[in-house]
Amino acid sequence: MRERLVVVGNGMVGLRFVEEVTRRAPERFDVTVVGAEPVPAYNRVLLSALVAGEASEDDCRLRDRRWYLANRVRLITGARASAIDSAERELRIDNHGVVPFDRLVLATGSEPIRLPVPGMDLPGVITFRDLADVSRMRAAAGAGGRAVVIGGGLLGLEAAYGLARLGVPVTLVHLASRVMERQLDDGAARLVEAAMRARGIEIVLGAQTAAIDGEERAEAVRLADGRVLPASLVVVAVGVRPATSLAQAAGLAVDRGIVVDDVLATSVRGIYGIGECVAHRGTVYGLVEPGYAQAEMLARRMAGEDARYGGTLLTTRLKVSGVPVFSAGDVATAAGDDVITMSDYSAGRYARLVVRGQKLAAAILVGETRHAGFYHELIASSADVSAMRDELVFGPGDALAADQPAAPVAQAA
Ligand SMILES: Cc1cc2nc3c(=O)[nH]c(=O)nc-3n(C[C@H](O)[C@H](O)[C@H](O)COP(=O)(O)OP(=O)(O)OC[C@H]3O[C@@H](n4cnc5c(N)ncnc54)[C@H](O)[C@@H]3O)c2cc1C
Repeated sequence: MRERLVVVGNGMVGLRFVEEVTRRAPERFDVTVVGAEPVPAYNRVLLSALVAGEASEDDCRLRDRRWYLANRVRLITGARASAIDSAERELRIDNHGVVPFDRLVLATGSEPIRLPVPGMDLPGVITFRDLADVSRMRAAAGAGGRAVVIGGGLLGLEAAYGLARLGVPVTLVHLASRVMERQLDDGAARLVEAAMRARGIEIVLGAQTAAIDGEERAEAVRLADGRVLPASLVVVAVGVRPATSLAQAAGLAVDRGIVVDDVLATSVRGIYGIGECVAHRGTVYGLVEPGYAQAEMLARRMAGEDARYGGTLLTTRLKVSGVPVFSAGDVATAAGDDVITMSDYSAGRYARLVVRGQKLAAAILVGETRHAGFYHELIASSADVSAMRDELVFGPGDALAADQPAAPVAQAA
């Protein structure tokens, strides 16, 4: 008899798991997927391009309903799983009753954080997470007016860029003294900020939001220093938090996310977690690649292989106003670190490498990211880079040559 496998969350990682498990073990499970969004999983990463009009909804599509049917996957959309009964092995779904399971996979992703300030619930204040948010942004852009984006992380920059591309006057406000402070150092952030300003985006740093002002709907963002920035659209992109409430209510161990071990099992037998909702060895990943690695590993295990997940090196790649940016590893420097930088501000290029001991600990590249893969490999493999240290910043050609023993010099007779 087939086992009943139920997946909560039809996001990018949930879908990847279903693809992998139906491919690797097509006869083993009766699969049911429950997703709160009204449409089947789509490429969320492309939402920034969708706002900017650089991708279409078609580009964002992953699998249509026919694919689920063809693979005998029961897909329930527009429905929220509301309770897990781990003793009875049942999942309660709003308006759909109860679904029994033998194994349950939680892939509930993240929820955008809303700021605890007055006015957050006014119409015209939105977050940036799903297709519905993009529709709201595009509608607001069509209606004219100004936008304020709160948050200078990856999502805030992308929202601001997308709105600017639509012709909306945008101000980006950010609490820290530079954008993307977790991925970039000062030098890199200044270049990114310059590229945003060149697009006409106004950037206000060190700015704390005190309130969203407005009667019927958002009219302005008020900062703690008293400044008032007019805005008919306010996009709040201040971060996400793992969607753990379902797991928590069911008594699963939760800290920064749903706690999973190296086989992605939660603290309750037969219940697993993957993607942005989980904390693995204390790390919650906010990017899709680690989630894909987890999805694949869990599918392999469910197909009978002995696979384990050991973690993923986080890298950030994005284009800000057309400028490529790459950041990998632990960019905060510690005493004793050897920091190598190379900058050409007028050409819009910047590179910073952090060597810790004999290893490359971090790399930041702006403007020229051709060698990103090389640095990623060095960090991920913890390779000894001491022999190539002086040439490292120039990329693999020079660095690898330096790593070779010097060719013997011909002796003059
Ligand atoms: C605009 C934007 C740009 C991004 N750009 C990048 C990028 O360039 N690179 C990158 O690596 N990552 C990027 N990300 C992050 C990336 O999208 C996420 O890492 C990825 O989507 C995580 O996948 P997931 O399946 O774990 O979670 P999600 O994609 O969040 O999917 C979870 C799904 O579960 C559903 N759900 C939650 N609770 C329940 C419930 N109780 N019942 C039923 N369904 C439920 C949610 O509605 C959601 O559909 C971006 C994200 C956004 C929003």
